[in-house]
Amino acid sequence: MTLDNLNFETPYLSLDSEFYDLTEPTPLDDPYLISFNPKAATLIDLDDSVKDDPRFIALLNGTFIPKGARTFSMCYAGHQFGNYAPRLGDGRAINLGSINGWHLQTKGSGETLYSRSSDGRAAIPSSIREYLMSEAMHHLGIPTTRALGIIGSQTKILRNQIERGAIVMRMSPSWVRFGTFEYFYYFKEYDKLKALAEYVITESYPHLQEDEDRYYKFFCEVVERTAKLIAQWQGIGFNHGVMNTDNMSIAGLTIDYGPYAMLDDFDYGFVCNKTDKAGRYSYGDQPNVSYWNLTMLSKALTPIIDQNRMQKKLDDFGNFLYPDAYIDVMREKLGLALKLDEDVELITDLVGTLQDAYVDYTLFFRTLSRYDGDRMPIFELAMNPIPLDSWLTLYDARLAKETRSQNERQQAMLKTNPKYVLKNYMLQEAIELAQKGDFSMVETLLYIAAHPYDELPEFERFAEETPEAHKNICLSCSS
Ligand code: AMP
Ligand code: MG
Ligand code: MG
Repeated sequence: MTLDNLNFETPYLSLDSEFYDLTEPTPLDDPYLISFNPKAATLIDLDDSVKDDPRFIALLNGTFIPKGARTFSMCYAGHQFGNYAPRLGDGRAINLGSINGWHLQTKGSGETLYSRSSDGRAAIPSSIREYLMSEAMHHLGIPTTRALGIIGSQTKILRNQIERGAIVMRMSPSWVRFGTFEYFYYFKEYDKLKALAEYVITESYPHLQEDEDRYYKFFCEVVERTAKLIAQWQGIGFNHGVMNTDNMSIAGLTIDYGPYAMLDDFDYGFVCNKTDKAGRYSYGDQPNVSYWNLTMLSKALTPIIDQNRMQKKLDDFGNFLYPDAYIDVMREKLGLALKLDEDVELITDLVGTLQDAYVDYTLFFRTLSRYDGDRMPIFELAMNPIPLDSWLTLYDARLAKETRSQNERQQAMLKTNPKYVLKNYMLQEAIELAQKGDFSMVETLLYIAAHPYDELPEFERFAEETPEAHKNICLSCSS
């Protein structure tokens, strides 16, 4: 399909007008293409040739509005670092509607009704980061929004320094957040809360549409999806950095990529967000925080769902939904096909071991994927290999109980433990080049993002340990 046959639907606009504001994008000056993502394009049946259609840049810049599209921003609230903000909303995102169930929006398109005191813009660094990481997460098998393309411009925007405005076109099966429900709960608009629940069930939980108990079951599935999502984050070593309830997807997706990081050396307490002084959103606290966020969601749903039933489900989250999901993720990373009770101890021990060993999290699991009893390749990764020795003794004993062959286990682990993840130092390199007009590394990282488990000899350096000076970079969310 070309841009001429794109045909948008705008189901969100069937909700009451309080849910959104019809908003005109404010185009950037002298826009140019930074990158086009053909894999995301196929999701909406767009041909690769679109990349060369000048209207593609215009589509991202808001000067070409395709058939059926209408431009609007969504209203929501949210708990930010524990404090309730009664109205946030898309302060810099403008929606166009949906195609094939993918809702498209441009981020950085200028002020909206919800911009508060900010400019509605996005700088090149954070836009490239969102564009690349969302693609990487998808190929790692983690539910996430995607991105179709990114443009830069000459428009000046003020951040810590003068930056140039960029726009990412993001796409998602849903942009509804926990905070969208909170908005209507705190304004006591319970009829709208109910309408939102119906909308979300249709959009993201359609198998529940005819169910008489659908609101409760919908809540249960949000809890279950969130448990699985966070278990995957913990398993891959992803620190989101801003888990405010407005950044929690009601469909259980990773959304709103800001100051996130993939762990370099494993550090349970790592905080990627420089503005998060108290470490509320540290890597290790993500499961607890998601429980807290689900509790805030349950509170917002009390007008339509029995609170005690929801509390039971929340208890399940802490008692077994999250812990079991995490143990399953880690079992797979360790190549354990059998489920034994003792695995919990092995995995808990491993977390402490990695913390003490000072070892690159990704490289540890990739190297373990080829483990054949020789401990040297693993010891060589760690600044302090001593704790790894005793853990490997436990691991050997556990592997002895497996029935799969060593080769089968290794093959499975190599498909579970990525060789390539996008670390902050790599993104930073791509960003600095892009700011000089060289987008080649954005393309390289887009390629690597799509091949996390492959051996790519030409990109070997991106599979190595993070250079010491670039480990555990913290970023702020303001870009
Ligand atoms: P975040 O935590 O980055 O997802 O953003 C929190 C809130 O701030 C959301 O409502 C965003 O739309 C809004 N926001 C962030 N940056 C800007 C900006 N430059 N202009 C307008 N609103 C913004
Ligand atoms: Mg309105
Ligand atoms: Mg957000």
